[in-house]
Amino acid sequence: MGSWVVVQTNTLLFATNNHHKLEEARSILAAVGVDVLSLSDLEETKHISDIPETGSTFEGNAQQKLDFVWQQYAKLPVMADDSGLEVTALDNQPGVRSKRWVAGSDNDRVAYLLQKIEGNSDRTAQFVTSLCYRESEEQSVLFFTGVVKGIIAEKPRGKNGFGYDPVFIPHGYNNTFAELSQSSKNTLSHRALAFHALVKHLTKEV
Ligand code: IMP
Repeated sequence: MGSWVVVQTNTLLFATNNHHKLEEARSILAAVGVDVLSLSDLEETKHISDIPETGSTFEGNAQQKLDFVWQQYAKLPVMADDSGLEVTALDNQPGVRSKRWVAGSDNDRVAYLLQKIEGNSDRTAQFVTSLCYRESEEQSVLFFTGVVKGIIAEKPRGKNGFGYDPVFIPHGYNNTFAELSQSSKNTLSHRALAFHALVKHLTKEV
């Protein structure tokens, strides 16, 4: 068994302003020697505060974010993700609308979700990530997907993470994502799985 080396790049730009996502990406990609820059790290992109996401699929939104940033800065490989929670009993809502399902804070959206599925015996759900990556003008956009299945807890628990983390219990665990450490979440989250698929693309065994 050999070691893994990065063959394509050692720095890439992540089209996000979400510091939780950035930390997840950094810890996974640092392990293979790839530095992840955020929009605020570059003079040319630090003004970007709101990236459009008007598509109806995770893939479409991820590509929209990537294209938006690529048009303004194409000197480094860029990656962009779109993620969300699909709740079975709600016909896979909130899905691509996870961030803006209901006006207000993450806590308001969690409370709304709990109220919507109250009394429902099916509490299964999944987090989905579509990650897209573009290396250069000549190369086409690549997509990587990550899915983690679980159930929605009866009440919010835990302080870590963001979004719907306090009510999502991944399959095989008793804790919510918000009760798990960052490093545990990084081994099993939807985004982590997509980042690992990207890492596989960026590396080769020698
Ligand atoms: P976007 O991918 O930035 O468009 O936002 C996706 C939305 O889905 C977030 O604002 C959260 O509400 C939710 N979401 C995505 N990933 C996670 C996660 O890892 N934990 C909790 N909520 C998440």
